[in-house]
Amino acid sequence: MNDLKLSWIASANSAETLFPLNNLPYGVFSTNGKRPHCGVAIGNFILDVTLAEESGLLTICSEPLFKAASWNKLMSQSPNVWTTFRTRLMEILAEDSSDQARAEAFLISSADVQLHMPFTVSEYTDFYAGRHHALNVGMMFRGPENALPPNWLHIPIGYNGRASSIVVSGTNIRRPWSQLKSPDDTDPRFGPSARFDIELEIGAVVGVPSNGPITVSQADDNIFGYVLLNDWSARDIQAWEYQPLGPFQSKATATSISPWIVTKAALDPFRCETPEREKELLPHLRDCGPMLYDINLSVSLIPDNGLETEIAHTNYNVMYYSAAQQLAHHTTSGCPMRTGDLLGSGTISGPRKDNRGSLLELSWGGKEPFELIDGSSRSFLEDGDTIVLKGSANGHGYKVGFGDCVGKIIEAVNDLE
Ligand code: CA
Repeated sequence: MNDLKLSWIASANSAETLFPLNNLPYGVFSTNGKRPHCGVAIGNFILDVTLAEESGLLTICSEPLFKAASWNKLMSQSPNVWTTFRTRLMEILAEDSSDQARAEAFLISSADVQLHMPFTVSEYTDFYAGRHHALNVGMMFRGPENALPPNWLHIPIGYNGRASSIVVSGTNIRRPWSQLKSPDDTDPRFGPSARFDIELEIGAVVGVPSNGPITVSQADDNIFGYVLLNDWSARDIQAWEYQPLGPFQSKATATSISPWIVTKAALDPFRCETPEREKELLPHLRDCGPMLYDINLSVSLIPDNGLETEIAHTNYNVMYYSAAQQLAHHTTSGCPMRTGDLLGSGTISGPRKDNRGSLLELSWGGKEPFELIDGSSRSFLEDGDTIVLKGSANGHGYKVGFGDCVGKIIEAVNDLE
Protein backbone atom coordinates (compact mmCIF):
# COMPACT_ATOMS: atom_id res chain seq x y z
CA MET A 1 0.00 0.00 0.00
CA ASN A 2 1.28 3.45 -0.84
CA ASP A 3 -0.67 6.52 0.27
CA LEU A 4 1.77 9.10 -1.12
CA LYS A 5 -0.21 11.75 -3.02
CA LEU A 6 1.61 12.67 -6.22
CA SER A 7 2.56 16.19 -7.30
CA TRP A 8 3.98 17.62 -10.53
CA ILE A 9 6.98 18.69 -8.39
CA ALA A 10 9.28 15.63 -8.59
CA SER A 11 11.07 16.20 -5.26
CA ALA A 12 7.70 16.02 -3.48
CA ASN A 13 7.19 12.45 -4.71
CA SER A 14 10.00 10.85 -2.70
CA ALA A 15 9.12 8.51 0.19
CA GLU A 16 11.79 10.36 2.21
CA THR A 17 10.77 13.99 1.71
CA LEU A 18 9.29 15.69 4.79
CA PHE A 19 7.07 17.79 2.53
CA PRO A 20 5.00 15.68 0.10
CA LEU A 21 1.58 16.76 -1.14
CA ASN A 22 0.10 14.94 1.90
CA ASN A 23 1.74 17.54 4.21
CA LEU A 24 1.71 21.14 2.85
CA PRO A 25 2.90 22.92 6.02
CA TYR A 26 2.60 26.69 6.40
CA GLY A 27 5.56 29.04 6.95
CA VAL A 28 6.90 32.54 6.30
CA PHE A 29 10.01 33.10 4.17
CA SER A 30 12.06 35.82 2.51
CA THR A 31 14.67 35.91 -0.25
CA ASN A 32 17.61 38.32 -0.50
CA GLY A 33 16.41 40.44 2.40
CA LYS A 34 13.10 41.24 0.67
CA ARG A 35 9.76 41.55 2.48
CA PRO A 36 8.69 38.18 3.98
CA HIS A 37 5.79 36.31 2.35
CA CYS A 38 3.62 33.38 3.40
CA GLY A 39 4.68 30.09 1.82
CA VAL A 40 3.85 26.41 1.69
CA ALA A 41 6.61 23.77 1.62
CA ILE A 42 6.33 21.20 -1.18
CA GLY A 43 9.32 18.91 -1.85
CA ASN A 44 12.44 21.07 -2.22
CA PHE A 45 10.37 24.16 -3.04
CA ILE A 46 8.17 26.77 -1.43
CA LEU A 47 5.02 28.05 -3.08
CA ASP A 48 4.75 31.82 -2.56
CA VAL A 49 1.19 32.00 -1.25
CA THR A 50 1.18 35.80 -0.90
CA LEU A 51 1.93 36.23 -4.64
CA ALA A 52 -0.35 33.33 -5.64
CA GLU A 53 -3.23 34.99 -3.79
CA GLU A 54 -2.48 38.41 -5.31
CA SER A 55 -2.51 36.87 -8.81
CA GLY A 56 -5.92 35.27 -8.27
CA LEU A 57 -4.57 31.71 -8.48
CA LEU A 58 -5.16 31.05 -4.79
CA THR A 59 -7.95 33.42 -3.82
CA ILE A 60 -10.50 31.87 -1.49
CA CYS A 61 -11.92 34.93 0.35
CA SER A 62 -13.25 38.30 -0.74
CA GLU A 63 -10.51 39.96 1.34
CA PRO A 64 -6.81 39.02 1.17
CA LEU A 65 -5.59 36.56 3.83
CA PHE A 66 -1.85 36.64 3.16
CA LYS A 67 -0.87 40.32 2.86
CA ALA A 68 0.80 40.26 6.29
CA ALA A 69 3.79 37.97 6.80
CA SER A 70 1.93 35.61 9.14
CA TRP A 71 -0.73 32.91 8.95
CA ASN A 72 -2.89 34.43 11.71
CA LYS A 73 -5.59 35.73 9.36
CA LEU A 74 -6.27 32.28 7.89
CA MET A 75 -5.97 30.74 11.39
CA SER A 76 -8.72 33.08 12.67
CA GLN A 77 -11.19 31.92 9.97
CA SER A 78 -13.59 29.02 10.50
CA PRO A 79 -12.30 25.44 9.99
CA ASN A 80 -14.38 25.32 6.76
CA VAL A 81 -12.16 28.04 5.31
CA TRP A 82 -9.04 26.09 6.40
CA THR A 83 -10.40 23.10 4.45
CA THR A 84 -11.30 25.18 1.37
CA PHE A 85 -7.78 26.62 1.32
CA ARG A 86 -6.05 23.23 1.72
CA THR A 87 -8.26 21.65 -0.94
CA ARG A 88 -7.40 24.42 -3.42
CA LEU A 89 -3.67 24.12 -2.61
CA MET A 90 -3.81 20.37 -3.26
CA GLU A 91 -5.64 20.94 -6.54
CA ILE A 92 -2.95 23.40 -7.72
CA LEU A 93 0.00 21.20 -6.72
CA ALA A 94 -1.35 17.75 -7.63
CA GLU A 95 -0.06 15.73 -10.56
CA ASP A 96 -1.91 16.64 -13.79
CA SER A 97 -3.07 19.97 -12.34
CA SER A 98 -4.30 22.40 -14.96
CA ASP A 99 -2.76 25.19 -12.85
CA GLN A 100 0.84 23.94 -13.15
CA ALA A 101 2.05 26.58 -15.62
CA ARG A 102 0.63 29.48 -13.54
CA ALA A 103 1.87 28.04 -10.22
CA GLU A 104 5.44 27.49 -11.49
CA ALA A 105 5.91 31.26 -11.48
CA PHE A 106 5.42 31.28 -7.69
CA LEU A 107 7.86 28.47 -6.78
CA ILE A 108 11.12 29.26 -5.01
CA SER A 109 13.88 26.76 -4.19
CA SER A 110 13.88 26.23 -0.43
CA ALA A 111 17.70 26.42 -0.50
CA ASP A 112 17.46 30.14 -1.34
CA VAL A 113 15.23 31.37 1.47
CA GLN A 114 15.37 32.57 5.03
CA LEU A 115 12.56 31.29 7.26
CA HIS A 116 10.77 33.48 9.81
CA MET A 117 8.18 33.04 12.56
CA PRO A 118 5.19 31.40 10.82
CA PHE A 119 2.58 33.14 12.99
CA THR A 120 2.30 35.91 15.54
CA VAL A 121 2.17 34.29 18.98
CA SER A 122 -0.53 35.98 21.03
CA GLU A 123 0.05 34.12 24.30
CA TYR A 124 2.15 31.14 25.39
CA THR A 125 1.30 28.47 27.96
CA ASP A 126 3.50 25.50 28.75
CA PHE A 127 2.24 22.23 30.25
CA TYR A 128 3.77 19.29 32.09
CA ALA A 129 1.74 16.47 30.54
CA GLY A 130 4.37 13.78 29.90
CA ARG A 131 4.11 11.11 32.54
CA HIS A 132 7.60 9.66 32.15
CA HIS A 133 9.10 13.15 32.38
CA ALA A 134 7.02 14.08 35.44
CA LEU A 135 7.97 10.78 37.12
CA ASN A 136 11.68 11.19 36.33
CA VAL A 137 11.82 14.79 37.56
CA GLY A 138 9.63 13.98 40.59
CA MET A 139 11.89 11.06 41.56
CA MET A 140 14.99 13.25 41.32
CA PHE A 141 13.56 16.05 43.46
CA ARG A 142 10.99 14.43 45.76
CA GLY A 143 11.81 10.70 45.80
CA PRO A 144 9.82 7.80 44.28
CA GLU A 145 6.96 7.99 46.83
CA ASN A 146 6.01 11.58 45.98
CA ALA A 147 7.16 11.64 42.34
CA LEU A 148 3.79 12.60 40.85
CA PRO A 149 2.07 15.53 42.58
CA PRO A 150 -1.47 14.60 43.79
CA ASN A 151 -3.17 16.76 41.14
CA TRP A 152 -1.18 15.30 38.22
CA LEU A 153 -3.57 12.47 37.28
CA HIS A 154 -6.57 14.86 37.36
CA ILE A 155 -5.49 18.01 35.49
CA PRO A 156 -2.85 18.92 32.93
CA ILE A 157 -0.53 21.15 35.01
CA GLY A 158 0.73 24.27 33.27
CA TYR A 159 2.12 27.77 33.74
CA ASN A 160 1.67 30.99 31.78
CA GLY A 161 4.83 31.70 29.77
CA ARG A 162 5.88 34.66 27.63
CA ALA A 163 4.85 35.12 24.00
CA SER A 164 7.70 37.65 23.66
CA SER A 165 10.31 34.92 24.14
CA ILE A 166 9.18 32.60 21.31
CA VAL A 167 11.75 32.49 18.48
CA VAL A 168 11.95 30.65 15.18
CA SER A 169 14.38 27.80 14.53
CA GLY A 170 17.87 29.05 13.67
CA THR A 171 17.86 31.84 16.26
CA ASN A 172 20.94 31.70 18.54
CA ILE A 173 20.16 31.20 22.22
CA ARG A 174 22.17 33.27 24.68
CA ARG A 175 22.94 31.48 27.95
CA PRO A 176 20.90 33.24 30.63
CA TRP A 177 22.19 35.12 33.62
CA SER A 178 20.20 35.25 36.81
CA GLN A 179 20.11 34.64 40.53
CA LEU A 180 21.30 31.12 41.38
CA LYS A 181 21.80 28.99 44.42
CA SER A 182 23.43 25.58 44.52
CA PRO A 183 22.64 23.20 47.44
CA ASP A 184 26.03 23.88 49.12
CA ASP A 185 25.89 27.70 48.85
CA THR A 186 24.64 29.57 51.88
CA ASP A 187 23.72 32.70 49.90
CA PRO A 188 22.48 33.12 46.33
CA ARG A 189 24.77 34.63 43.70
CA PHE A 190 24.20 36.45 40.40
CA GLY A 191 25.77 34.67 37.43
CA PRO A 192 25.35 32.71 34.21
CA SER A 193 23.38 29.46 34.35
CA ALA A 194 25.65 26.39 34.60
CA ARG A 195 22.77 23.93 34.12
CA PHE A 196 21.21 25.16 30.89
CA ASP A 197 18.94 22.55 29.32
CA ILE A 198 16.41 21.71 26.61
CA GLU A 199 12.89 20.32 26.67
CA LEU A 200 11.63 18.40 23.64
CA GLU A 201 7.97 19.32 23.12
CA ILE A 202 5.22 19.70 20.53
CA GLY A 203 3.38 23.04 20.44
CA ALA A 204 -0.31 23.25 19.57
CA VAL A 205 -1.37 26.42 17.73
CA VAL A 206 -4.86 27.77 18.43
CA GLY A 207 -6.79 28.96 15.39
CA VAL A 208 -10.40 29.67 16.37
CA PRO A 209 -10.62 31.97 19.42
CA SER A 210 -12.91 31.20 22.38
CA ASN A 211 -14.34 33.22 25.23
CA GLY A 212 -15.44 30.97 28.08
CA PRO A 213 -15.29 27.25 28.81
CA ILE A 214 -15.18 24.86 25.83
CA THR A 215 -15.38 21.07 25.63
CA VAL A 216 -12.48 18.77 24.69
CA SER A 217 -14.17 18.17 21.33
CA GLN A 218 -14.56 21.93 20.67
CA ALA A 219 -10.95 22.44 21.74
CA ASP A 220 -9.80 19.87 19.17
CA ASP A 221 -11.82 21.73 16.50
CA ASN A 222 -10.21 25.06 17.47
CA ILE A 223 -6.61 23.80 17.11
CA PHE A 224 -5.13 24.83 13.77
CA GLY A 225 -1.90 22.84 13.75
CA TYR A 226 1.28 21.79 15.48
CA VAL A 227 4.97 22.80 15.63
CA LEU A 228 8.11 21.32 17.22
CA LEU A 229 9.04 23.25 20.34
CA ASN A 230 12.20 23.48 22.46
CA ASP A 231 11.55 24.98 25.90
CA TRP A 232 15.08 26.11 26.87
CA SER A 233 15.30 25.72 30.66
CA ALA A 234 17.91 26.91 33.18
CA ARG A 235 17.73 24.25 35.91
CA ASP A 236 19.82 26.14 38.48
CA ILE A 237 17.63 29.25 38.10
CA GLN A 238 14.50 27.05 38.25
CA ALA A 239 15.61 25.21 41.41
CA TRP A 240 15.98 28.49 43.32
CA GLU A 241 12.88 30.31 42.05
CA TYR A 242 10.16 27.71 41.47
CA GLN A 243 8.55 27.56 44.90
CA PRO A 244 5.81 28.57 45.49
CA LEU A 245 4.62 29.97 42.14
CA GLY A 246 6.38 27.81 39.52
CA PRO A 247 8.93 28.63 36.83
CA PHE A 248 9.68 32.25 35.91
CA GLN A 249 13.13 33.44 34.70
CA SER A 250 14.32 29.84 34.16
CA LYS A 251 11.91 29.56 31.21
CA ALA A 252 11.94 33.16 29.97
CA THR A 253 15.17 33.22 27.92
CA ALA A 254 13.71 31.71 24.77
CA THR A 255 11.47 28.98 23.41
CA SER A 256 12.30 27.85 19.85
CA ILE A 257 9.70 26.55 17.39
CA SER A 258 10.05 24.83 14.02
CA PRO A 259 9.51 27.13 11.01
CA TRP A 260 6.53 25.18 9.63
CA ILE A 261 3.05 24.76 11.10
CA VAL A 262 1.93 21.23 10.24
CA THR A 263 -1.84 21.37 9.96
CA LYS A 264 -4.21 19.21 11.93
CA ALA A 265 -5.56 17.99 8.57
CA ALA A 266 -2.12 16.68 7.50
CA LEU A 267 -1.73 14.86 10.83
CA ASP A 268 -5.22 13.38 10.78
CA PRO A 269 -4.12 9.88 9.55
CA PHE A 270 -1.77 9.66 12.56
CA ARG A 271 -4.32 10.25 15.34
CA CYS A 272 -4.07 7.90 18.32
CA GLU A 273 -5.57 7.43 21.76
CA THR A 274 -4.12 8.74 25.01
CA PRO A 275 -2.84 5.99 27.36
CA GLU A 276 -5.09 4.10 29.75
CA ARG A 277 -6.20 6.26 32.68
CA GLU A 278 -4.96 5.34 36.12
CA LYS A 279 -7.69 7.49 37.62
CA GLU A 280 -10.81 8.36 35.69
CA LEU A 281 -10.82 11.97 34.57
CA LEU A 282 -13.72 14.26 35.53
CA PRO A 283 -16.31 14.47 32.72
CA HIS A 284 -15.15 17.85 31.34
CA LEU A 285 -11.66 16.44 30.59
CA ARG A 286 -12.60 12.96 29.37
CA ASP A 287 -11.30 11.72 26.03
CA CYS A 288 -13.88 11.84 23.25
CA GLY A 289 -11.81 10.41 20.39
CA PRO A 290 -8.19 9.91 19.39
CA MET A 291 -6.53 13.31 19.93
CA LEU A 292 -2.86 12.45 20.30
CA TYR A 293 -0.66 11.81 17.26
CA ASP A 294 1.91 9.18 16.33
CA ILE A 295 4.88 11.49 15.66
CA ASN A 296 8.47 10.22 15.85
CA LEU A 297 10.77 12.72 17.54
CA SER A 298 14.51 12.95 18.09
CA VAL A 299 17.06 15.23 19.71
CA SER A 300 20.61 15.68 18.38
CA LEU A 301 23.50 17.57 19.95
CA ILE A 302 26.20 19.02 17.69
CA PRO A 303 29.26 20.52 19.42
CA ASP A 304 31.50 23.13 17.72
CA ASN A 305 33.38 20.32 15.90
CA GLY A 306 30.23 19.51 13.89
CA LEU A 307 29.98 15.83 14.97
CA GLU A 308 26.28 15.10 15.52
CA THR A 309 25.09 12.67 18.22
CA GLU A 310 21.44 11.66 18.47
CA ILE A 311 20.96 11.80 22.23
CA ALA A 312 17.27 10.83 22.46
CA HIS A 313 14.33 9.61 20.41
CA THR A 314 10.73 9.25 21.47
CA ASN A 315 7.14 9.68 20.24
CA TYR A 316 4.39 12.22 20.95
CA ASN A 317 1.98 9.28 21.45
CA VAL A 318 3.32 8.70 25.01
CA MET A 319 1.74 11.90 26.39
CA TYR A 320 -0.88 11.53 29.13
CA TYR A 321 -2.97 14.54 28.06
CA SER A 322 -3.73 15.65 24.49
CA ALA A 323 -3.45 19.30 23.40
CA ALA A 324 -7.27 19.34 23.16
CA GLN A 325 -7.52 18.38 26.85
CA GLN A 326 -4.96 21.04 27.75
CA LEU A 327 -6.85 23.68 25.80
CA ALA A 328 -10.21 22.65 27.31
CA HIS A 329 -8.69 22.78 30.82
CA HIS A 330 -7.19 26.20 30.04
CA THR A 331 -10.67 27.62 29.39
CA THR A 332 -12.47 26.19 32.47
CA SER A 333 -11.90 29.39 34.46
CA GLY A 334 -13.35 31.46 31.61
CA CYS A 335 -9.88 32.32 30.28
CA PRO A 336 -10.31 33.67 26.73
CA MET A 337 -8.09 32.02 24.12
CA ARG A 338 -6.94 33.90 21.05
CA THR A 339 -5.90 33.07 17.51
CA GLY A 340 -2.14 32.49 17.81
CA ASP A 341 -2.18 31.07 21.34
CA LEU A 342 0.64 28.53 21.64
CA LEU A 343 0.37 25.57 24.05
CA GLY A 344 3.55 23.58 24.83
CA SER A 345 2.86 19.88 25.44
CA GLY A 346 5.37 19.42 28.24
CA THR A 347 8.58 17.44 27.86
CA ILE A 348 8.10 14.26 25.83
CA SER A 349 10.04 11.43 27.44
CA GLY A 350 9.40 7.72 26.90
CA PRO A 351 9.96 4.77 29.22
CA ARG A 352 13.59 4.03 28.27
CA LYS A 353 16.72 5.98 29.12
CA ASP A 354 17.30 6.93 25.47
CA ASN A 355 13.70 8.25 25.26
CA ARG A 356 14.34 11.15 27.65
CA GLY A 357 13.54 14.58 26.23
CA SER A 358 15.75 16.71 28.52
CA LEU A 359 19.41 16.67 29.56
CA LEU A 360 18.26 16.84 33.18
CA GLU A 361 16.80 13.34 32.73
CA LEU A 362 19.50 12.03 30.35
CA SER A 363 22.25 12.93 32.88
CA TRP A 364 20.01 12.23 35.90
CA GLY A 365 20.45 15.67 37.39
CA GLY A 366 24.11 15.83 36.32
CA LYS A 367 25.05 12.68 38.26
CA GLU A 368 25.39 10.46 35.15
CA PRO A 369 26.97 12.46 32.29
CA PHE A 370 26.28 10.92 28.88
CA GLU A 371 28.77 10.36 26.04
CA LEU A 372 28.84 12.03 22.64
CA ILE A 373 30.34 10.32 19.58
CA ASP A 374 33.38 12.65 19.66
CA GLY A 375 34.34 11.11 23.05
CA SER A 376 33.30 14.13 25.11
CA SER A 377 30.47 14.00 27.63
CA ARG A 378 27.66 16.28 28.71
CA SER A 379 25.41 16.84 31.69
CA PHE A 380 24.08 20.20 30.49
CA LEU A 381 24.66 22.44 27.46
CA GLU A 382 28.03 24.04 26.71
CA ASP A 383 28.57 27.25 24.73
CA GLY A 384 28.79 26.39 21.03
CA ASP A 385 26.48 23.36 21.32
CA THR A 386 23.69 23.19 18.73
CA ILE A 387 20.49 21.30 19.51
CA VAL A 388 18.39 19.93 16.65
CA LEU A 389 14.86 18.61 17.23
CA LYS A 390 13.40 16.52 14.41
CA GLY A 391 9.89 15.20 13.99
CA SER A 392 7.89 13.29 11.42
CA ALA A 393 4.80 11.12 11.22
CA ASN A 394 5.44 8.10 9.01
CA GLY A 395 2.64 6.91 6.73
CA HIS A 396 2.56 4.21 4.04
CA GLY A 397 5.08 5.44 1.47
CA TYR A 398 5.28 8.99 2.80
CA LYS A 399 6.26 11.20 5.73
CA VAL A 400 4.70 14.30 7.23
CA GLY A 401 7.62 16.30 8.65
CA PHE A 402 8.01 19.49 10.64
CA GLY A 403 11.45 20.65 9.47
CA ASP A 404 14.22 20.91 12.05
CA CYS A 405 13.96 23.06 15.17
CA VAL A 406 17.52 24.29 15.72
CA GLY A 407 19.20 26.51 18.31
CA LYS A 408 22.87 27.20 19.09
CA ILE A 409 24.04 28.22 22.56
CA ILE A 410 26.12 31.38 22.70
CA GLU A 411 28.01 32.72 25.69
CA ALA A 412 26.31 34.58 28.52
CA VAL A 413 26.69 38.35 28.52
CA ASN A 414 25.46 40.66 31.22
CA ASP A 415 25.95 44.40 31.16
CA LEU A 416 24.83 44.71 34.78
CA GLU A 417 28.08 43.14 36.01
CA1 CA B 1 8.39 22.72 29.30
